[in-house]
Amino acid sequence: MIKRRRTRKVRVGNLFIGGDAPILIQSMVKIPTRNTRKVLSQIKRLEKCGCEAIRLAIVNDEDISSLKKIKSSVKIPLIADIQFQTSLAVKAISAGADKVRLNPGNMEKKGLKEIAHLAGERKIPLRIGANSGSIKRIEKKGITFSLVKLVDDWRKFFEDIGFFDLVISLKTPEVKSTIESYRLMASRCNYPFHLGITEAGRGREAVVKSSLGIGVLLQEGIGDTIRVSLTESPEEEVRVAQEVLQALGIRFFHPEIISCPTCGRCEIDLPKIVKEFERRLFSLSLITYHLPLKIAIMGCVVNGPGEARQADIGIAGGKKSGLLFKKGKPIRKVKEEKLVKELLREIKATHKIKVTT
Ligand code: SF4
Repeated sequence: MIKRRRTRKVRVGNLFIGGDAPILIQSMVKIPTRNTRKVLSQIKRLEKCGCEAIRLAIVNDEDISSLKKIKSSVKIPLIADIQFQTSLAVKAISAGADKVRLNPGNMEKKGLKEIAHLAGERKIPLRIGANSGSIKRIEKKGITFSLVKLVDDWRKFFEDIGFFDLVISLKTPEVKSTIESYRLMASRCNYPFHLGITEAGRGREAVVKSSLGIGVLLQEGIGDTIRVSLTESPEEEVRVAQEVLQALGIRFFHPEIISCPTCGRCEIDLPKIVKEFERRLFSLSLITYHLPLKIAIMGCVVNGPGEARQADIGIAGGKKSGLLFKKGKPIRKVKEEKLVKELLREIKATHKIKVTT
């Protein structure tokens, strides 16, 4: 069990961040907020794939009026991302934003006080944070220290004016400095943290960076909401975030499929079987997608029976065939071409659901 860092809890719409609340998955709309119709359709897609809070960039008054319309059409919490203009933050809160993300370093103190006052009245939190790119002065102790000091000074500013519903972020594009920054900040305050590796890039490299940076911190109990930043679709960000949480055993989203990498002992086309099984299982119905199952698809008798026995259901491959296991017991030998169908049939029988095989 991961022992989570004890933090304050803040409300974001109908959900919470921090305290005992589940680690919340968020993403960001990637088109201008003023394109109301397109933004709404991206939000619907994000909600469908499991996003729990959505951030929108607010850069002008058109975005504000769109935010107002969007807010009246969706239930998912909306976070207004504001840079530079305090007046936009004030308008976004009035338009119904459930949380505001600010980089206090690029705003006037007078404006920040006004924002905090209104956020306090509406009981919404503010995320304050900085990216390493926004540090104007690097201290002798290096980037990590400078980033933490910068955000910590802002944390104290908000506390001094009596505002405590804060979420904190300290992002860098590097795994090591991000981890070190959050660790250091965790020793200084008990506000919930928004985790992410900023500007991680795309593809494999970005997924590895994000998984490591976010994963190491979560494993240490640090982190209350996560955003995987990818130069890809926001839906992909949500899928990766879900995988990170599931891989750490923090949250469950879909059946776990364990399959071996194959080697010279494998006598069935295991990659094809796994791919086909995944496709059919996950496209069958929402019910199958959310079943709490562990499925082992293994290439041979070396590790196959062991893994298959520990799973709810599994296969240990043989010569153009596989031995089917259920709840730890071998149940029958199945020809290679029927393995996917038989696995699905067993899942159907166990969970009494309609699965077309
Ligand atoms: S389970 Fe068998 S086929 Fe798969 S990697 Fe291990 S030894 Fe190779």
